[in-house]
Amino acid sequence: MSGRLGRSLGLDLLGGRICSMDCVYCEVGATRDLTCERKPYVPAADIIEELARWKEEGLNDPDMVTLGGLGEPCLNSEMGLVIIEARKLFPNTPVAVLTNASLMTDPEVRRELALADVVLPSLDSLVPDEFAKVNRPCKGISPAAVADGLLAFRKEFKGKIFLEILLAEGINDSDENLGRLKDFCKRLAPDRVDVVTLTRPGTVKGVRPVDGAVLSRWRLALESGDTPAATRQASDGKAMSTERTPAAVAASLSRRPQTVAQLAQALNADPEKVRQAVEALEKRGEIISRDDQGEIFYHGTGHVIEY
Ligand code: SF4
Repeated sequence: MSGRLGRSLGLDLLGGRICSMDCVYCEVGATRDLTCERKPYVPAADIIEELARWKEEGLNDPDMVTLGGLGEPCLNSEMGLVIIEARKLFPNTPVAVLTNASLMTDPEVRRELALADVVLPSLDSLVPDEFAKVNRPCKGISPAAVADGLLAFRKEFKGKIFLEILLAEGINDSDENLGRLKDFCKRLAPDRVDVVTLTRPGTVKGVRPVDGAVLSRWRLALESGDTPAATRQASDGKAMSTERTPAAVAASLSRRPQTVAQLAQALNADPEKVRQAVEALEKRGEIISRDDQGEIFYHGTGHVIEY
């Protein structure tokens, strides 16, 4: 759920893989805590303190402050406060929230989300068994309830809604789903629809991307009225210049654990330069490593991420 907003400062509100879903395509990895319980998983004060430090470093204001992280940001019960305080620090920077929309059934969550300028919900299927297969939500979340929450939010929210639909081959690319989402998009009238597919392995082996023809067909079908639909691969890895490699590596690792090879591919960077950057960052304690069945994954430690 990222890469759709230009240069962005990301805020991780969870501090771990905590989510109300365990999507088969998740690039962050398998959800550690599958929950619908709202809590200050990372206190707003800690996030704002880090954000204030980032600002003090005198860098240019970002194009966007984006709430996301290693799971579902709406699970953080202090999300509203984070948005308010982020806006105070960067009054000219829009605030965006990447969400799986599952908690939008809660009016309090909608009130907090409405403090943002842009909300980027995902909704991959309105067919119940497809939704269950692709998103593997925690008990009690149904696609119909998520859709109703989104429609209620549309009425209450004055900002922009960019809907994302991720397609996995043979799971949620059915005509039935397309028909239901088409009707839903007419009612929701999002400002944009992004139809995407996987570009890296998800958490479940054998889950495959759809091909370009399917993406194009869905885009055309979902284009309606003033709502532009766009297809893209769900990758946020952009080519980085060699001198930017360490910063790019740090930013990328703050978002998800990756091996050196995965990083090099995602950043379109020289693997040797990536390896050197990773070693330097680990020495400085800015990232940590873990061995996962013989593969070494690296991950950042902070809650404010430039990307
Ligand atoms: S909602 Fe997002 S963070 Fe949560 S499991 Fe799905 S892809 Fe991963």
